[in-house]
Amino acid sequence: MDWRRKRQIRNLADGILVQNVLHRPPIELIPAIMKQRGIVFEERNEDDEEFCGVYMVVKQVKIIFVNTNLRTSRKHFTIAHELGHHYLGHPLQNGAIICDSDSVFGKNKPEQEKEADYFAACFLMPENLVKQKRTEFFNHFPKQTTLFLEDQQLEQQHQLKRYLSDYFQVSMEAMGYRLDELKLV
Ligand SMILES: [Zn+2]
Repeated sequence: MDWRRKRQIRNLADGILVQNVLHRPPIELIPAIMKQRGIVFEERNEDDEEFCGVYMVVKQVKIIFVNTNLRTSRKHFTIAHELGHHYLGHPLQNGAIICDSDSVFGKNKPEQEKEADYFAACFLMPENLVKQKRTEFFNHFPKQTTLFLEDQQLEQQHQLKRYLSDYFQVSMEAMGYRLDELKLV
């Protein structure tokens, strides 16, 4: 994925989020977006722990399934990832794109899986809202609570990640990755 493609995907996610006038955590907009796009959404109880989700089209009905057994933060990321396949118009194989934990969370994944992940990150943690919440955090975090500045900074980074991952309802890992990418740590 080169920078042009990244920019396209970022702009797409921002465009979809224009409707977020109340600045809610984007995950909360998903039910309305699914409805708007005519997507049927369902959680499925799958024993296979590797199975994350699927985007499929059956007789012109668009469907997203997600494995109900995933922990919440992973589930959220997977839902946004499947939405990415939908918005990016990725080609289906036999009517579906099936995503396992390797394709959503693993390394060395196919390009369209990387794109869906990038969409999910841009959608769930949009730059402007991340910056806004980060400023909010620093306005409230006590200036110095430990003797050594270095410890203080480490602790602060950790608290920041926790604060933001709670707000955006994503994993600390996904949040850390996003902050790195936005050069905010
Ligand atoms: Zn996928």
